[in-house]
Amino acid sequence: MASAIILNNGARMPIIGLGTWKSSPGQVTEAVKAAILTGYRHIDGAHVYENEEEVGAGVRAMIDQGVVKREELFIVSKLWCTYHERALVRGACEKTLSDLKLDYLDLYLIHFPMGLKPGEKSLPLDAEGQAIPDNSTFLETWEEMEKLVDAGLVKAIGISNFNRSQIEAILNKPGLKYKPVTNQIECHPYLTQEKLINFCHSKGITVTAYSPLGSPDRPWAKAGEPSLLEDPKILAIANKYKKTAAQVLIRFQIERNVAVIPKSVSPGRIKENFQVFDFKLSKADINTILSFNRNWRGIAMEWASKHRDFPLNAEY
Ligand code: NDP
Repeated sequence: MASAIILNNGARMPIIGLGTWKSSPGQVTEAVKAAILTGYRHIDGAHVYENEEEVGAGVRAMIDQGVVKREELFIVSKLWCTYHERALVRGACEKTLSDLKLDYLDLYLIHFPMGLKPGEKSLPLDAEGQAIPDNSTFLETWEEMEKLVDAGLVKAIGISNFNRSQIEAILNKPGLKYKPVTNQIECHPYLTQEKLINFCHSKGITVTAYSPLGSPDRPWAKAGEPSLLEDPKILAIANKYKKTAAQVLIRFQIERNVAVIPKSVSPGRIKENFQVFDFKLSKADINTILSFNRNWRGIAMEWASKHRDFPLNAEY
């Protein structure tokens, strides 16, 4: 049985979830079913992954077959950047719910702090290849997210890719009704995020680690970039515990009380990534892994580097 993290709304978020970015529509239904049969109860998705209908089909199949009840699952989705304007937030959430064929989400996140020009294109770009902003502020967007909780569409709301000052802006917003329950950020041994994690935890905000294996299938990966899964130093620690590199990378987050959402469409790896509750990393090994930090990002968001709300210019 996987452990869970208690959120500031009192709900339990299972500490491991299945990631679904880049999971093809043809494969993700089976991946979700394999995950739920393995024991996963947390599924991480997003409208922009263009596979929510197929994710939902896997969830529904497991509910219909009696493998799991809806209330035992923790289903996450994310508001895409082109739906940040006040009038668009609820419709975007309803579209995700209808694609998933669910009547509520356990958690809905603002995917990125940057609002982008609404329209057909998920990534509207100018002549320089930079994302075109919208007219919203993320504080307005947050107020619309709060309304989704009150309307019963979502149980909890959170943020993703927010830096410290952006989180502070939400926490200091006059009339704040709900605090974010989590900040979902890139996190792995090459980007250990100690300062941002400590800050979030000090404010009662959990952290969810995305790309915990270094996102080797990210579309813009280039030869020669660092590879966590092949790193001899990670492999040496894995050998010591008779575990795989992936299992050490996942367990590393659990030891820090950080939720972790590895993506896989392979049933064997989906199982492997869940077999992390039968060992513990020593304090010394955790410190060694923390020393691998090199502030390397697989998800550097260059497409928005000039946006007023680009989060990665700050130290953390
Ligand atoms: P991950 O770090 O989870 O890596 C996924 C890759 O690792 C895939 O190529 C997968 O291949 C491979 N893999 C999985 N398990 C193993 C294993 N045991 N051994 C070897 N290789 C393995 O990358 P993601 O970037 O996908 O991050 C995870 C999830 O986080 C996303 O899917 C998404 O849900 C979320 N995310 C959120 C973001 C945000 O902005 N909020 C940004 C990025 C990710 P295969 O599928 O073939 O097994």
